[in-house]
Amino acid sequence: MELLSHDVLIIGGGLAGLRAALEAKKSGVDVAILSKVHPLRSHSVAAQGGVNAALHNVPAPIPDSWGNHAFDTIKGSDYLADQDAVEVMCREGIDRVVEMEHWGTLFSRTEDGRIAQRPFGGAGFPRTCYAADRTGHNLLHTLYEQIIGQNIPVYEEWYALSLVVHEERCLGILAYSMFKGQIIPIHAKVTILATGGYGRIYLRSTNAIINTGKGCSLAYRAGVPLQDMEFVQFHPTSLFGTNILITEGARGEGGYLKNAQGKRFMEDYAPHLMELGPRDIVARAIQTEIDEGRGFEGEYVLLDLTHLGREKIMNRLPGIRQIAMDFAGIDPISDPIPIQPAQHYSMGGISTNMDGETPMLGLFAAGECACVSVHGANRLGGNSLLETLVFGKRAGEKAASSRSSNIQNQKEVTKIFQQNLHQFQKDLEEIFMREIQEPSFKLREEMKTLMTYQVGIFRNASSLQFAKERIRDLKERFHRLGIKQKTLSFNHELVQYFELEGMLDISQVIIEGALARRESRGSHFRTDYPQRDDEHWLRHTLAYHTPQGPKLEYKPVAITSYPPKKREY
Ligand SMILES: Cc1cc2nc3c(=O)[nH]c(=O)nc-3n(C[C@H](O)[C@H](O)[C@H](O)COP(=O)(O)OP(=O)(O)OC[C@H]3O[C@@H](n4cnc5c(N)ncnc54)[C@H](O)[C@@H]3O)c2cc1C
Repeated sequence: MELLSHDVLIIGGGLAGLRAALEAKKSGVDVAILSKVHPLRSHSVAAQGGVNAALHNVPAPIPDSWGNHAFDTIKGSDYLADQDAVEVMCREGIDRVVEMEHWGTLFSRTEDGRIAQRPFGGAGFPRTCYAADRTGHNLLHTLYEQIIGQNIPVYEEWYALSLVVHEERCLGILAYSMFKGQIIPIHAKVTILATGGYGRIYLRSTNAIINTGKGCSLAYRAGVPLQDMEFVQFHPTSLFGTNILITEGARGEGGYLKNAQGKRFMEDYAPHLMELGPRDIVARAIQTEIDEGRGFEGEYVLLDLTHLGREKIMNRLPGIRQIAMDFAGIDPISDPIPIQPAQHYSMGGISTNMDGETPMLGLFAAGECACVSVHGANRLGGNSLLETLVFGKRAGEKAASSRSSNIQNQKEVTKIFQQNLHQFQKDLEEIFMREIQEPSFKLREEMKTLMTYQVGIFRNASSLQFAKERIRDLKERFHRLGIKQKTLSFNHELVQYFELEGMLDISQVIIEGALARRESRGSHFRTDYPQRDDEHWLRHTLAYHTPQGPKLEYKPVAITSYPPKKREY
């Protein structure tokens, strides 16, 4: 058996994974990155609008500060974020953004040459630093250059299949090298999951096809709790037809939302902030307009940029213009863009502390797959890129200094990996033996439809109860799915099979968490419990895997200086 070994193994080549790798490498330990796609194809590359940091580069009546940023984030989270973690993110975020600039990120500039900042939803100041509307692209390329410079090895197109756990300690993973056509064990003192979001469990999502949430499912199956998974962010403005994201930056630059009567309807929902209300509120407003018959074709409303003028659109939103022209045949300089809400972000994830440690020794998580929690019930735009940088760094630093493996004996390690590999291969043989009764894509489509229509922007007990029963049925059918290709060489069908397994786990956790939470908070809106209920529900959900389904427990929210208040905009 070939057994690879590293001090720190990072699963995921997005911003969180790369930032963690760089920091761990600084301590001189042996670091490697493993990713199912080339790192530059990670979803981070698609981030458009920007990254928040209270630099105060744009004049405002009073100076911005990390404290203001923390307050906006906590209010935006509907008071579910852990306030100590938010304070860390907003304070340390300033240095993380400036550091990216020093490493070469091409931020857009103010007249006097500083990093430009634009207004974003739910923020009281122009705080979002941006590189036109291609911020993620710029940041990811910058970090990838640093990874190359540091000679950090990347296992490209390797897929993490399962975690190897012994005596409640993570010892590494079993990985599938698609190119080699082999399952190869990798031992690591510390494994960091930086596997991103799970948007593709929904029919309409702004996420890349690869965002399936497998990393969350790996941790969950190994016994680590998933936190606050019922909080799913729906972005207000995705392009009607393809659901490609139209950045919040378009509203930050002054775009209007209009219904079929030509009215700027946000005045009825967030009279002060209007289009720049937080995402949960704007998404619900758009969906309400559509549901109540004031949309177009019962499907969309308009995002109007025409009054911004050619020059501003060309300078600040060139990517958005191109997307609208290529995918909707519309030039936003002269015509409004048809938009509708779509799944966008996962507030929940693998439960971690502020250093990325999960409750399992040897296992860390960072980035969108983790829940620290800094976004609570609703994330503000621009805070996710920031989270990847701040908590990616912290996780890498802590992982490098962690001596988690208590097994000194190489023979014992090899034996454990051999046993794990043997069991996995036996399971695989059983899968290959099954007769094909139905194609896996059929199950996947049924799951996506269920999540979109029963577990979407608006939820209630009967839709969630229905979803709970249906997902159990889908999970049962999953165990009878067969696979046509019986060899391991580039077996994408097999990868799809394992992806679906993880997606069904995550869907089930979201449904059961949402059914249990009898209140409305942030992105989780129950039409049968429309009010926030701090007395009973100011607490985090923790979902533990059991063979019968998720077991839910709860833990308190960390409150520092910001007592929960009514949330108005
Ligand atoms: C269209 C779009 C625009 C956005 N714009 C913004 C924005 O302007 N500002 C902002 O703050 N946020 C934005 N976000 C959110 C933000 O981009 C993401 O939350 C963030 O980039 C996630 O980074 P990450 O490193 O956690 O994960 P990702 O960048 O998604 O990377 C995940 C990595 O994990 C790997 N992986 C996953 N599973 C496995 C497996 N089983 N085996 C091996 N490898 C695996 C993948 O190959 C990939 O390399 C946007 C999101 C989208 C979808």
